[in-house]
Amino acid sequence: MKFENTKSFAQFLDQQDKLAKYRNEFNFPRLNNEEVIYFTGNSLGLQPKKAVEYVNEVMQDWANLAVEGHFYANKPWWDYHERFNQPLSKIVGAKPLEVTVMNTLTVNLHLLMATFYKPSGKRIKIICEEKAFPSDQYLIQTQVQWHGLDPKTTIVEVKRRKGEHNFRTEDILSKIEEVGDELALVLIGGVNYYTGQVFDIQAISAKAHSVGAFVGWDLAHAVGNIEMNLNEWQVDFAAWCSYKYMNAGPGSASGCFIHEKHHTNTTLNRLGGWWGHNKERRFLMEPQFDAISSAHGWQISNPSILSLAPYLASVEMFAEIGMKQLVQKSKQITAYLEFIIREIAKEVKANFEIITPEQSTERASQLSILLHGSGKELFTYLMKNGVIVDWREPNVIRLAPVPLYTKFEDIYNFGKILKNGILEQTSN
Ligand SMILES: *Cc1c(COP(=O)(O)O)cnc(C)c1O
Repeated sequence: MKFENTKSFAQFLDQQDKLAKYRNEFNFPRLNNEEVIYFTGNSLGLQPKKAVEYVNEVMQDWANLAVEGHFYANKPWWDYHERFNQPLSKIVGAKPLEVTVMNTLTVNLHLLMATFYKPSGKRIKIICEEKAFPSDQYLIQTQVQWHGLDPKTTIVEVKRRKGEHNFRTEDILSKIEEVGDELALVLIGGVNYYTGQVFDIQAISAKAHSVGAFVGWDLAHAVGNIEMNLNEWQVDFAAWCSYKYMNAGPGSASGCFIHEKHHTNTTLNRLGGWWGHNKERRFLMEPQFDAISSAHGWQISNPSILSLAPYLASVEMFAEIGMKQLVQKSKQITAYLEFIIREIAKEVKANFEIITPEQSTERASQLSILLHGSGKELFTYLMKNGVIVDWREPNVIRLAPVPLYTKFEDIYNFGKILKNGILEQTSN
């Protein structure tokens, strides 16, 4: 389709958009009495109206039933987390019993590493991507130290080539090959938080297995953003937060995937608690831990129902739409945003570099733009004019045109504001 930088064309795309009605399911921040253009759904998704309803339901049940709510609430609390199995498994391409929700992301990665990072003999090394999200760097460093090893010699970072913004799959695969039988674990972010690059989860997972290592994925920016088949791709484990593309609210519960092949493997250690114990016998208060033979067997504590409630509301919406349909719109709206940015850059002779991969298979709902010659003033201008974007030093703005609630007209309007912002800067 040939795009046009006109309001009528953007409105035409909105009329064709099968997901357009979902915008109404969200609460938008307002500036000067107008809904903002929200491009930071990759950082904190907007609030689904249904999330408010689900949280209120828990509050009401708590008020009316107190302890009885565990069994007699409208959605009983004792197995509330099991309501995620069906819808969440569809979103990540898993079998229902391969997913669970608990804790928060970095905590879950620590817990999953307790199972899947077992350095022994010379097989001690971990491969990750250079400049991973800080929490992942700290996670890996401290895990390595926890085992009495030296991060400098144990952690192997795959690097970008000089002058390139993105990783090459071939470089990751050859690094895995090179480390070979010293490799214990590959742990990478499925979608890079800075550039939006989508990694080849299937190929990298297969390669890790071919040298005898486990592979885990941090799917913080992938879940609800790209289509995945974690079961088929033989991923050992994965975890994600729910407050980015999944719109479950600040600090809400994290999701985990553990491949079914590991569910009953007793040679794998885990850190247990009563919520992972045989469900039928949980309240018998038995002395011996008997893990549930599914991802739920990695549960530890009784979960925060108030944090699961908004997530459940959101997960149900995603399952209703399906990732296929969502990704279709995502590709179109991201392409439209790219088109608008390039048009504006031509009109005002700005030197923007889009550092997100151009290939639609290697990116999702995010464009990161390196603003050569433009500074933070442009970011401030955008924010003051109702465009919520994210700024990363030294001069990158990240734009996430989230398909669930972004209109094509938003993209057109953003173009106008961007153009005015640049003209204002250059005239000063
Ligand atoms: C957002 C994000 C996190 C956040 O971790 P929390 O434990 O939820 O605070 C971690 N890793 C990556 C890659 C992220 O994008």
